[in-house]
Amino acid sequence: SSVPHVTLNNGVEMPRLGFGVWQVSNDEATATVGKALEVGYRSIDTAAAYGNEEGTGRAIAESGIPREEIFVTTKLWNGDHGYDAALRAFDASLERLALEHVDLYLIHWPMPAVDLYVESWRALEKIHSEGRARAIGVSNFKPTHLRRLLDETGTVPALNQIELHPNLPQADTRAFHAEHDIVTEAWSPLGQGKGLLEDPTLVSIAEKHGVTPARAVLRWHLRLGNVVIPKSATPSRIEENFDLFGFDLDDEDMTALAGLDNGRRLGPDPDEFN
Ligand code: NAD
Repeated sequence: SSVPHVTLNNGVEMPRLGFGVWQVSNDEATATVGKALEVGYRSIDTAAAYGNEEGTGRAIAESGIPREEIFVTTKLWNGDHGYDAALRAFDASLERLALEHVDLYLIHWPMPAVDLYVESWRALEKIHSEGRARAIGVSNFKPTHLRRLLDETGTVPALNQIELHPNLPQADTRAFHAEHDIVTEAWSPLGQGKGLLEDPTLVSIAEKHGVTPARAVLRWHLRLGNVVIPKSATPSRIEENFDLFGFDLDDEDMTALAGLDNGRRLGPDPDEFN
């Protein structure tokens, strides 16, 4: 396929463009993920918390695409933190997905008030050592949380999946990632399709390149080095968001889009979310 890959810090290759399935019901997931696979996506981002691992697994099985050609990510939910609980939660996710292994397993949120993410990480290390997750990483970790994993355990997360879009470019966290060979993956890369896609600066850049605002934003991410996982339940948009490789933004566009940073989160602050 035409999607470039990134090499994770343990040598595993991951597509830089994937498909996110948050807010897709288990029943819808089979058709929606099926459509994404048909369009050419080969990376799927689900989570125990999304309630659609079964539907996602069914789409993968029904696609007829060889398992090794699809990169599957799922995540440990907040109620399952701790060493033993995380191991059990992982088994349940694999069972729902009807897979022998996932490609990437993430801790969904650090929940610093509960303070079990180091124990959970040790469970992920075990899962990785058994080959049941080809790579392990985290989500919604701030540099302070990452620092603890680096100091207290033996494995650097392969990737951190964080809220990231032109209104919240996360420069400090991206710099920390770059320093420690952690891949940055952007969630809500389109800003959830709300105000961002109507922003006049973005709209004019998109017009200049003859693309839609969604395609221009996704290209902005790729240029920053982010892995992206846009979500859509609309077939034409699933196709649109995959069509990123025939154009590029220039330095002037990147400078203009840097002006969209307003520091506003769409989701919760990871320090406060439990
Ligand atoms: P997104 O930024 O991908 O936006 C998706 C929404 O944008 C769609 O529902 C639709 O309304 C709109 N949209 C999509 N394509 C469009 C297009 N071409 N033109 C116009 N509008 C379009 O938001 P998201 O779903 O929040 O994030 C993507 C994925 O990131 C999720 O599905 C999930 O896999 C992941 N995620 C992870 C976390 C986490 O805590 N780790 C949190 C949120 C999302």
